[in-house]
Amino acid sequence: MAQLTLKNLQKRYGNKAEVIKSLDLQINSGEFVVVVGPSGCGKSTLLRMIAGLEEISGGGMYIDGSYVNDDSPSERGIGMVFQSYALYPHMSVYKNMAFALELAGHPADDIARRVHETAGILQLEPLLERRPKDLSGGQRQRVAIGRAIVREPRLFLFDEPLSNLDASLRVQMRMEVASLHKRLGSTIIYVTHDQVEAMTLADRIVVLNRGNIEQVGTPLDLYDHP
Ligand code: ADP
Ligand code: ADP
Repeated sequence: MAQLTLKNLQKRYGNKAEVIKSLDLQINSGEFVVVVGPSGCGKSTLLRMIAGLEEISGGGMYIDGSYVNDDSPSERGIGMVFQSYALYPHMSVYKNMAFALELAGHPADDIARRVHETAGILQLEPLLERRPKDLSGGQRQRVAIGRAIVREPRLFLFDEPLSNLDASLRVQMRMEVASLHKRLGSTIIYVTHDQVEAMTLADRIVVLNRGNIEQVGTPLDLYDHP
């Protein structure tokens, strides 16, 4: 659980126009913030900057009050569930979740404890020996979430994690994400195109447009205007 502060955050790619203009936002510890906005408005860029995967062109980013602009992704303690983070196809579900911890040099018993705990939360225990190709879409998505959880991050970033799933699975996984948030009490930033997801999951919704925050508010503030 962590607090995230963005102060006058800016991003430009090369010498092109600014993609993120001057973004100020404070996200409280344990808060579930959903980011919405039209395609190309800068949502992925924003998440990638927070994750440390994209250089920040201007302004500052703070986690629990500490300046993190220059910290590597792993130093930031952030867990990512991005569509682009495909599972490792040749590794079992267990290994997919354990791998990053192994690279980071965690002891095997600590890794086993974390993987089994996470598998319990996500109902992956019976699937630990399977390969990704033998899983359903929803199960794969659960493994991707599990891979982020085992790292015990301070902050979770989700970039349209459910958009590749069919409608009924999306509803089920949406409820699972909501209960996960309740259970872990984690701080979550979640990008989606789906208004129902935004309304049901968010404590606060941030509407981005052309690299600016157009609106911020609770789902009721934003959508419940008769
Ligand atoms: P969204 O996630 O809201 O669709 P993006 O953050 O992907 O928006 O993109 C915002 C803008 O930045 C778009 O105009 C896009 O073309 C541009 N952009 C994204 N990534 C790059 C990049 N690596 N190099 C140059 N321009 C980029
Ligand atoms: P480094 O410290 O060298 O950046 P990490 O320990 O952060 O390495 O990452 C190790 C491996 O785990 C990499 O292959 C990376 O792609 C993957 N990875 C990193 N972060 C995540 C994440 N949140 N979810 C899934 N995979 C991740």
